[in-house]
Amino acid sequence: MKNTVSNRILLVGDSACQVKPFSGGGIIYGLTASEYCATTCVKALKESRFDSNFLKKEYDKKWKEKLEKSIRRGLLYRKILDKFSDKQLNFLFSSGKILKLTRILESWDMDLLMD
Ligand SMILES: Cc1cc2nc3c(=O)[nH]c(=O)nc-3n(C[C@H](O)[C@H](O)[C@H](O)COP(=O)(O)OP(=O)(O)OC[C@H]3O[C@@H](n4cnc5c(N)ncnc54)[C@H](O)[C@@H]3O)c2cc1C
Repeated sequence: MKNTVSNRILLVGDSACQVKPFSGGGIIYGLTASEYCATTCVKALKESRFDSNFLKKEYDKKWKEKLEKSIRRGLLYRKILDKFSDKQLNFLFSSGKILKLTRILESWDMDLLMD
């Protein structure tokens, strides 16, 4: 999402599209962003700043620094996998076992999509 804040408003979780594009899972991304959201709320109350500029700098920018790359990577994988039929995917994964691709996949962080 281009922007997840407005004056006096912060979006978190599904409403902010903090969701893994290839699985639809939003627990990890939503909880990760909610820490930034909570910290920002405390800071906003302390400094009496509820304007979108402040919320963007403190929340929108920071959660994206942590999750944007993973979401973009997930979108790319999703686009690639969507091109395959179920039959082709089954073949790909059964070949993966033979080619030991599963070992590579197992070493990945499947939430942030990094090794
Ligand atoms: C069947 C299913 C299986 C899933 N499995 C997984 C999984 O295995 N792993 C994973 O990571 N994610 C999974 N997800 C996704 C995950 O559940 C969501 O990403 C996550 O719950 C989003 O949390 P949230 O707090 O943003 O939204 P929600 O959990 O949807 O919370 C929003 C809350 O707002 C309330 N609400 C809505 N409108 C209003 C209103 N007008 N006023 C007051 N309250 C309102 C709703 O009742 C709800 O309680 C699954 C989703 C579904 C549907």
